Amino acid sequence: MPNVSKNKQKTSEESSPRNCTQSYLVQALKELDLAPAFEALLKTPYREIHLELPFERDDGSICVFQGFRVQHNQSRGPFKGGLRYHPDMDLEHARALAEVMTWKTALVDIPFGGGKGGINCDPHELSDREMEQLTKLFARRMNGLFGPDTDIPAPDVGSGPREMSWIYDTHAQIVGHQPAIVTGKPIELGGSLGRVEATGRGVSMVTEWAAQANGIELEDARVAIQGFGNVGSQTAHFLTQAGARVVAVSDVSGGIQDDDGLDIEKLIKQIHQGSKRKTIHALKLEGKKISNKQLLAANVDILIPAALNGAINDQNADKVRAKLIIEAANLPVTFAADTILEKKKIRIVPDILANAGGVIVSYLEWVQNRTGHQWELERVDTELEKTLKQAFDAVIERAESKKVSYRLAAYCIAVDRVAKAQKLRGLL
Ligand code: NAD
Repeated sequence: MPNVSKNKQKTSEESSPRNCTQSYLVQALKELDLAPAFEALLKTPYREIHLELPFERDDGSICVFQGFRVQHNQSRGPFKGGLRYHPDMDLEHARALAEVMTWKTALVDIPFGGGKGGINCDPHELSDREMEQLTKLFARRMNGLFGPDTDIPAPDVGSGPREMSWIYDTHAQIVGHQPAIVTGKPIELGGSLGRVEATGRGVSMVTEWAAQANGIELEDARVAIQGFGNVGSQTAHFLTQAGARVVAVSDVSGGIQDDDGLDIEKLIKQIHQGSKRKTIHALKLEGKKISNKQLLAANVDILIPAALNGAINDQNADKVRAKLIIEAANLPVTFAADTILEKKKIRIVPDILANAGGVIVSYLEWVQNRTGHQWELERVDTELEKTLKQAFDAVIERAESKKVSYRLAAYCIAVDRVAKAQKLRGLL
């Protein structure tokens, strides 16, 4: 049986993802004139599910993983959020990440609530057959809880279109064909054009607007990106197209730096060459090999954490030299680091805005599934840009008029919308 806890990192109270979300929420509640009961209501998830997932491995041994789904809030629509396959996944991560989804869907004003889940496995240690078994077991045990009008999963770290197909299939075997049960599906099963690249495309758009708002010329701006999976690599691709100079990228193995600018397209090709995806340090590359620690402290204009939560924390925040941080990952900056960075006058575009492109196109996929009509890519991209820009402008306007950080402005807009919906529904 694989020891799933062997890779588990110790989470200090400071860097606990829940500590971050709840601290940001409390700050927003202080700004808003809401009844005190809202604090308890918005802090507590609607429902938490913890599943035992026993299955037979290829070598005949029996293995037991844990599955999680936290449904945080559904006052504005069905629970919506990804599934993370990672050894560190637990109820605490699911709670925090579900909460982030509630604020994200509210900020970009799409009719969804917030949820998140996953399995505490390392996908790199499992065969394709094992991944299918495990995903389908998870989906079966969630029977009755996932649904196009109740709770709609999507990809996150360690999962992608393949896992979404298996969830779609399991659901279809039980209740019949309902493509809107899951988003981030392959196109052949009703996925949307533009969904795979949507989060990175959105991060790139937000980076461009934020650079402009903060007097940074994107053309030739030096950018470092931590995490080179779906979001990090797509962000690098779109930012390079927009004229930025991506000088450093990293993944779990470490990073690579070239101050003249990395050849992003070549790097993406090398990583995907062959049947299994490769890590950066396993490749023969031009440029200087660096650690993740060095990447976060690189001499760049823009830093984009696009890996896991807690990457920038009280131990390394004072080393950050970038002028602008774009949170492509969820909760990459801890609450303590946020305070340190604010004192250093480093601007942060929060996750609930920066990486919302993914859930916006997930919503567009769900709309297409409900009408049975597939849109052209141009329409998807236009809707994505319009929705994201509206949210970006609202955040900038509130931040400037109230003289608060982008994060506090974004949280206030989102929390206010959720609270209004709860009040209208008579829950308080
Ligand atoms: P992914 O699994 O495709 O990629 C994750 C990347 O992070 C990989 O390159 C991996 O090697 C790297 N990584 C893992 N642990 C690391 C560590 N300790 N240090 C440095 N790098 C590390 O995942 P993804 O879908 O790209 O998601 C990345 C982040 O973006 C997550 O925080 C996720 O919640 C967030 N996000 C994803 C989406 C989406 O549509 N996929 C949408 C919104 C937000």
